[in-house]
Amino acid sequence: MNQYKKIDNKDIEFLKNVVGEDKVLYGSDINEDYSHDELGGVSNYPDVLVKVHNTEEISRIMKYAYENTIPVVARGSGTGLVGASVPLHGGIMMETTEMNNILELDEENLTLTLEPGVLLMEIGKYVEEHELFYPPDPGEKSATIGGNISTNAGGMRAVKYGVTRDYVRGLEVVLPNGEVVELGGKVVKNSSGYSLKDLIVGSEGTLGIVTKAILRLLPLPKKSVSLLIPFKDIDTAIEMVPKIIKSKAVPTAIEFMQREVIVSAEEFLGKKFPDNSSDAYLLLTFDGNSLGQVEGDYEIVANLCLKEGALDVFIVDTDERKDSVWSARGAFLEAIKASTTEMDECDVVVPRNQVASFIKYTHELEEEYNIRIPSFGHAGDGNLHVYICKDDLNEEEWEFKLNKVFDLMYKKSEELRGLVSGEHGIGYAKREYMFHQYGEHYMSIMRGIKSAFDPKNILNPGKVCQ
Ligand SMILES: Cc1cc2nc3c(=O)[nH]c(=O)nc-3n(C[C@H](O)[C@H](O)[C@H](O)COP(=O)(O)OP(=O)(O)OC[C@H]3O[C@@H](n4cnc5c(N)ncnc54)[C@H](O)[C@@H]3O)c2cc1C
Repeated sequence: MNQYKKIDNKDIEFLKNVVGEDKVLYGSDINEDYSHDELGGVSNYPDVLVKVHNTEEISRIMKYAYENTIPVVARGSGTGLVGASVPLHGGIMMETTEMNNILELDEENLTLTLEPGVLLMEIGKYVEEHELFYPPDPGEKSATIGGNISTNAGGMRAVKYGVTRDYVRGLEVVLPNGEVVELGGKVVKNSSGYSLKDLIVGSEGTLGIVTKAILRLLPLPKKSVSLLIPFKDIDTAIEMVPKIIKSKAVPTAIEFMQREVIVSAEEFLGKKFPDNSSDAYLLLTFDGNSLGQVEGDYEIVANLCLKEGALDVFIVDTDERKDSVWSARGAFLEAIKASTTEMDECDVVVPRNQVASFIKYTHELEEEYNIRIPSFGHAGDGNLHVYICKDDLNEEEWEFKLNKVFDLMYKKSEELRGLVSGEHGIGYAKREYMFHQYGEHYMSIMRGIKSAFDPKNILNPGKVCQ
């Protein structure tokens, strides 16, 4: 059990000295938002919130915290869904959103170097102006790149392009003792010992603070078309996914959605979806450099789906249609949240040919426990977002049903050879499920890595492997 030093006036004075008086907030000046992330269920205030601006400030603060055994948490935009940025032990929270400069576009190496507080939406806009492409496409565009790197964020285009880790070439990181290290770089290949860069990616702020990133870019695909494909029921829709993958057509994204979730999104946005008359839909995107190539790919998939029971195929190629479909898709999480009193999320990832089995199982649980379990997700990469909704259950029923249903869902995912989190991470909320799945030996290796980076356990304590 760690004994952390409580923040006192001397610490506050030190922090003000490093970052400036107006960048240090404490006590009732800290907004409630900083006590939780988008998950909501876990909360605790930091003792002091510091808005940092450069590597040197972070390094000085980390060194001070290390010498004084003060817990520190890094925070981006706070859009995480597993309580990862919640300062469980109080201490110092370093917010990186004012470190938001794009530092260099290197068109000869196809890399973008930037500070951790740059928002995902700004990266997309900036690189597209240069006809370049940063493929990772998580739904929440107001997240920071530091947060995306630290959670190894996924998103819709993972089917074709992979996830954040695949696009991180290099990192500058402040270690828990304040030392600054550079990991990786602009190099395309790297076989130089253990990849510490890849350990930092997805470490949820427990091993080091990312202060600079070098991202890998691709040329911007010139054409992109989406297909919205209605099916009579969700089983028929999802059973299509492995068949589409087998067709070798390579979609950029394959998302599944049910009528119930579409209707919630329509209500939430006050905007109509192009069609909501069917029970279930697949939404696919194809991209490439010529319309011919894109059409070739999507025709294979459209014909296959029609042969296997699709009710229709809507081509989403105008800006207006693209906006109505993708803005609804982007609002699903918020819409489900708005439709209930409280909810919790399961973000398992299973092999792609097991998605249908998993979703069928959630429907069985819905019936058996008489609880609403809407879902949507990245069917093309096996990553599902399944929500357990409290609705009008009382606290006792909710606790019981939530725990029961979660236990059974994670057990099912294990049976199907899936893993606890596809993209949202472990943070605080999903630790027990990961401990259970990985077992003591695996967990002791993770804890060994944590203590090699952070022997005093001051960086984001109580998360991931603890
Ligand atoms: C509506 C909605 C849709 C979403 N869709 C997706 C999706 O499609 N795919 C997906 O993967 N996620 C998704 N998310 C989850 C969330 O946006 C991601 O987890 C995101 O990466 C968090 O970034 P952030 O800047 O908000 O980080 P925060 O929530 O502030 O922090 C997340 C973790 O990263 C750490 N961290 C932040 N910055 C740094 C840094 N500079 N150095 C070290 N550690 C740091 C924190 O300590 C914490 O552990 C969604 C969330 C919402 C609300």
